[in-house]
Amino acid sequence: MRITYYGTAAGEGWPGVFCQCPLCRQARRLGGKNIRTRSQALINDDLLLDLPPDNQLHSLYGGLDLGAVRALLFTHSHSDHCYPEDLEFLREPYSHTRQGGLLVYGNEAVADKVKAACGGLGGVKERFRFETLQANTPLNVLGYRVLPLRATHTPKEQCLFYRIAQGDKALLYAHDTGALTEENMAYLSAQSGKLSLVSLDCTCQRHRDGKYHMGLADCAAQKEKLLAAGLADGQTVWVVNHFSHNGGWLHEELAYEAGKHGFLAAYDGMTIEL
Ligand SMILES: [Zn+2]
Ligand SMILES: [Zn+2]
Ligand SMILES: [Zn+2]
Repeated sequence: MRITYYGTAAGEGWPGVFCQCPLCRQARRLGGKNIRTRSQALINDDLLLDLPPDNQLHSLYGGLDLGAVRALLFTHSHSDHCYPEDLEFLREPYSHTRQGGLLVYGNEAVADKVKAACGGLGGVKERFRFETLQANTPLNVLGYRVLPLRATHTPKEQCLFYRIAQGDKALLYAHDTGALTEENMAYLSAQSGKLSLVSLDCTCQRHRDGKYHMGLADCAAQKEKLLAAGLADGQTVWVVNHFSHNGGWLHEELAYEAGKHGFLAAYDGMTIEL
């Protein structure tokens, strides 16, 4: 099982699209891993997590092969994760040679956004088919065992994060969420097998939150919680991801600080083989 991070910023990107703060100016000047686009990751070659407005950028410069993607899991409807207008281009005359439809999953708010952008939720004869997900109800997607979990993010919709398992590997992709709740821990504990990788929201970096997002100290606390519950072990790979320029650390300092807690700091283009 492999995960590739194509976009590792919070909503405004880093540098922020209109921002001229010192950290955005520095990121523009330094380039490299300090340049972060909007949130997207890929499991192996076929399971995509989120469809941000930087979707085409990831395919042009990040090496993302959207033609090979067979299923898409949306976390929630915020614009940095959900740009459903691109789903329209799956059909003729915009896309000619694609074989097979795209399976698309998301919450009700995402369904509304998809409907508004594409005029419907697709169907068997069309290029995508949308299925509405409920938290805590496991499903099989392309042979992956997927558990959508209830994120603590905004009261306006039921945001989701995901446990995704294949064979004896499992990963937790928990972004745009605060601290793991007792309910999250109970549903995670009901799954068999340890987590091979845990990817946690670290929007706030040096600041704490835990209510809508997390900072590094919150992530470290979640790591302790998962280890104490026996859901992860010494083999687990720990990643922080989804960073805002308000968090205070450019990549090098972030990687150093994250390393103190045993976390890797994600960057655009990072791939981890499990
Ligand atoms: Zn976000
Ligand atoms: Zn800025
Ligand atoms: Zn969000």
